[in-house]
Amino acid sequence: MNRRQILLMLTSQTGMLWLAVNGFAGQNKKNGAAMTTSGKIKVYSAEQGDFILVDKVHRSKEEWKQLLTSEQYHVLREAGTERAFTGKLLKNKQHGVYRCAACGNDLYLSDSKFDSGTGWPSYYEAIADENVLIREDRGFFVTRNELICSRCESHLGHVFDDGPPPTGKRHCINSVSLKFKKLDQ
Ligand SMILES: [Zn+2]
Repeated sequence: MNRRQILLMLTSQTGMLWLAVNGFAGQNKKNGAAMTTSGKIKVYSAEQGDFILVDKVHRSKEEWKQLLTSEQYHVLREAGTERAFTGKLLKNKQHGVYRCAACGNDLYLSDSKFDSGTGWPSYYEAIADENVLIREDRGFFVTRNELICSRCESHLGHVFDDGPPPTGKRHCINSVSLKFKKLDQ
């Protein structure tokens, strides 16, 4: 995949906004993936309770293979899908934050998790629009909206429009793409 041609679709309060991002050190200053010229991005941190600036994470295939299990690599780096009802975090109901298994970026709070019955962990919203990006995933007959981590661009899952209130969205995420961190409050 050519990173320079990645189309990111970001939601904003005024509607859908399509952005073509030129490379990873893009000059995008719109809402959503607020990149700076230094390659840092603004993301929300559950532990800090605020937005923080972090470096984007870029690794070679070989580095990712060293860091991840083969299943994690297949899902996160090759946009694979784990088998339904097999994920360790599917039934997790503890209070905490779900992070990217590849880079540790905070992605979802337990408050937004719901039982969709699909067999994959489901959330009605990301922890912040800045932390999870939407990318068009063109299949032969359908176009789906792929969810990727804003920090390392690993594949997380897909977003659909059949979720519960208050957003009506269903973020359908592979459990293998996530790591759970319990929070005290
Ligand atoms: Zn990540």
